[in-house]
Amino acid sequence: MAQKTTGKEESRAADTKQMDNIVSLCKRRGFIFPSSEIYGGLASAWDYGPLGVELKNRIEAFWWKEMTRLRDDIVGIDAAIMMHPRVWEASGHVENFTDPLVDCKECKQRFRADQMPEENQKSGRCPNCGGELTAPRQFNLMFKTHLGPVEDDASQVYLRPETAQGIYVNFKNVVQTSRVKIPFGIAQVGKAFRNEIVTKNFIFRTCEFEQMEMQFFVHPSEDVKWFEYWKEQRMAYYAKLGIRPDRLRFKQHGPDELAHYAKDAFDIEFEFPFGWRELEGIHNRTNYDLSRHSEFSGKDLTYLDEVSRERYLPYIIETSAGLTRSVLMVLSDAYDEETVEAEGDVRTVLHLHPALAPVTVGVFPLVKKDGLAELAQEIERGLRDDFTTFYDQGGAIGRRYRRQDEIGTPYCITIDYQTKEDNTVTLRFRDSMEQVRIGVPELISRIRQEIRDYKRV
Ligand code: ATP
Repeated sequence: MAQKTTGKEESRAADTKQMDNIVSLCKRRGFIFPSSEIYGGLASAWDYGPLGVELKNRIEAFWWKEMTRLRDDIVGIDAAIMMHPRVWEASGHVENFTDPLVDCKECKQRFRADQMPEENQKSGRCPNCGGELTAPRQFNLMFKTHLGPVEDDASQVYLRPETAQGIYVNFKNVVQTSRVKIPFGIAQVGKAFRNEIVTKNFIFRTCEFEQMEMQFFVHPSEDVKWFEYWKEQRMAYYAKLGIRPDRLRFKQHGPDELAHYAKDAFDIEFEFPFGWRELEGIHNRTNYDLSRHSEFSGKDLTYLDEVSRERYLPYIIETSAGLTRSVLMVLSDAYDEETVEAEGDVRTVLHLHPALAPVTVGVFPLVKKDGLAELAQEIERGLRDDFTTFYDQGGAIGRRYRRQDEIGTPYCITIDYQTKEDNTVTLRFRDSMEQVRIGVPELISRIRQEIRDYKRV
C-alpha cells in the first residue's frame, strides 16, 4: 500500500519541484547558466545569459531610478572593488567578518556551525554521514589577493565583501563636490565577494554577487525617525516592483544577532520556494563607520551644518539589498504553471512586471507569405526605439505565444491579413491572454500606458 504523505511533506516536495523548474527554465531559455559549464562548472558561480542579463539590468535600473532619479536627496557613486587594506581594519571586517566553521572528519564536508540542525550542534556529529565533527573555528569570509608583482603582506588586498565602505570613504568627497545637505544619501550598485562556507539554492547565496546599497546620512537625533522612514520606503519599493505583498515580511534582529556596528536592524524577508529568507537589510549603523574611518585615516570626517554651525559625525541608515538575490526573488514570485481550460493544457508563465521583462514586445506575422513577414518586420523595427522587441515567424501562433509567456514577455503583436487592409494588429496580453485589435499608430502610446498602469492580478 502506498504510504500516506502529510500536507507539509507534499508542499515541501512541491516547493523543491518549483525550484527545480525555475532552475531548468533559466538554463533552457538562456537566463542563467552554470559558470564554466564546459569544464564541469564551478561551485556557486553562475553566468547570466542573454535574457538573464536583461532582467538583472532592469532590476538594477528600477532600483537606481527609485533611489536616485525620482528623489532630490540621493546621489550615486561607483567605487573600486579593491580598496586600501586599512579600510577593512577600520570597518571591523578583518577582526569580525567571520563564520564559525566545522568539518566532518569522515566525509570532509564543511558546515556553518550556527546553521546546522540543533541536534547535530549538540551531538557534534555530521548531518550528512553521522561522522565526528571538528570543533568550530572562526573563518574569515574575505577573499585575499595581492596587488602588484610582489606577494608580501604589504601588497595584500581584499575583494570587497560589501559595497558600503566605498561610500563611507567617499563621504567627504561627495559633501565637498555636490550640493548635498544632511539628510542625504549615497547609492551604489556593484559586485561584492564572500568566501561563503555553504552555498546552495541556485543564485541565492554565492561567493560573487551584486549589491544595491544606499547609505543615508542623518543628524544623530533623527536616526530613529529616518530608520522608520526607510523601512516603510523599502517595503513600498517591492510592491512597486510588482512583488506580491503576502510574500514579504519584516524580521527584526534580536540583540544577539545585531552586527558589531548596528544599533537596530530589520531584514526584509521574501518567501522563496525553500522558505523565508533575507532579501535586504535595513540597519542603523550609528556613527560607527565614519568614526572608525576618522580614527584609522586620521582625517576629520565631521559634517558642518552651515545654518546652525553645529559640527558632528552623522549617523547612517543603510538599506542593503542583493541584486542577484533579487533576480531569484523576481523569478520565484513570477513563475507559474497555469491550467488553460479553453485549450486543456498547462502553460508556464512568468508574471514579470513589464518594466522588468527581458523582452517587452513579441512581434509575429500570422503566416510568412503574402508580404505579412515583411510588414511585421517593419512594424517591429518601428518599436525598437521604445521597447525591447523580439521577432518570431516560426511555428504555430499558439506556440509562439507560449514561448513568450515562458520568458515573461507582457505584450505580443500579431500581424494578419486584416493588417494589410486597415493597418490594425492584434495586441495580446500575457497575464489575461486577452486580445484587442488596435491601430499600428497607437501601439507605442498604448504599450507605454499599459506598462505604467500594470497591476498584477
Ligand atoms: P546572510 O546572513 O544571508 O549571510 P547578511 O546578513 O550577511 O546575509 P548583508 O551583509 O546584510 O547580508 O548583505 C546585504 C544583502 O546582500 C543581503 O540581504 C543579500 O540580499 C545580499 N547578500 C549577502 N550575501 C550574499 C551572498 N553570499 N550571495 C548573494 N547575495 C548576498
